[in-house]
Amino acid sequence: MKTVKLYETDSYLKMKDCIVHELTEWEGRPALILEETIFYPEGGGQLFDTGTIDGVPVTNVQEVDEVIYHVLEAEHPFKPGQKVHTQIDWERRFDFMQQHTGEHVLSGVIENRLGYKNVGFEINEEFMRVDYNGLFTKEQLDELEDEANRMVLENRHVLAFVPGEETISQLEYRSKKPLEGDVRIVDVQGVDVCACCGTHVAFTSQVGIIKIIDDMHHRGGTRMTVLCGERALKDYRTLNDQSRELSAGLSAPSRELTESFIHQQELRQEEIRRMVHLEREILNLRLENLSKSDIWMHFEEYLVGRDLARLSATLAHDKDLFFLLSGDDEVGYNYILTAKTIDTREIAKEMNTALDGKGGGKPEVVRGGLKATREEIERWVHDNGSLFS
Ligand SMILES: [Zn+2]
Repeated sequence: MKTVKLYETDSYLKMKDCIVHELTEWEGRPALILEETIFYPEGGGQLFDTGTIDGVPVTNVQEVDEVIYHVLEAEHPFKPGQKVHTQIDWERRFDFMQQHTGEHVLSGVIENRLGYKNVGFEINEEFMRVDYNGLFTKEQLDELEDEANRMVLENRHVLAFVPGEETISQLEYRSKKPLEGDVRIVDVQGVDVCACCGTHVAFTSQVGIIKIIDDMHHRGGTRMTVLCGERALKDYRTLNDQSRELSAGLSAPSRELTESFIHQQELRQEEIRRMVHLEREILNLRLENLSKSDIWMHFEEYLVGRDLARLSATLAHDKDLFFLLSGDDEVGYNYILTAKTIDTREIAKEMNTALDGKGGGKPEVVRGGLKATREEIERWVHDNGSLFS
């Protein structure tokens, strides 16, 4: 028995007493088939409704061959013929109705203006994704968004109906695939005529704002991320909060954040140039001091990475043995140990075991890290002096 789809004729039905047809299963979970339903099943790019049946939560709604399965959170002794009270999560549904109708308005405007088709569509709990088979400039996107929002303000009527065969053959409408049998048409007056099985608001003003928040090239066309209604407002609130925080942090008016960011980037580049210069200076000073002295172990605070490796490589030329470390007591120390006459791997092995370290290398040079304090390292080296000679 086909389930009567009450949401197709009235998408504003929030609750309704319905008759149980059958208690069955859906993928191992208890599921109920009703004679008629206000629950929209997943399909056509729109997610299923949630809600309750006699207080039992409905966690999923699916449709197979025109039969709608209401998947229940828990077992319940429903009986065929029994009247049950059904209620949908209206906030979730109305949000989907806003997104879905917003898609019709935007796709209608795009097709009318540029002839591009909507070739893919999905609404999830966070955003709506729409694919078009054409490319847009930024100016075009802004114009289309303006036009779509004008259509919202004009409060156009949204009609859903199943026309007779004669009417449908005369009708021009958008459709992602060839359709047979009864085709349900959704008509956003003067904007869009489209074959669609989803739920929609009755007047475009209920869509609220339509905002394209992202666009990217996708399979030769464009994939857009769109927010409508309350989603768009929430997104604006989040972005506004962010921009106010940034504005306070950068001490710049929120309308000048981009300029301020560019200025900060320039300052940062200048600082990096200065820092690189200073690191070179430190490197040269260290080299001068260390190569002249008979120091064979040195802790470094400011040099890292390539500069540290350069320092070690240069000293390895001049000295039979050199143990170079960099870091601090909080995070530990990286080390490079070089030697001309002894196998550094032996030392590394002992040291890594004793000081929670790791690393290795060749007989003449080992690199690694130690999870120990400077004091612990110095004490261990002192106690194991024989290893180094
Ligand atoms: Zn639709």
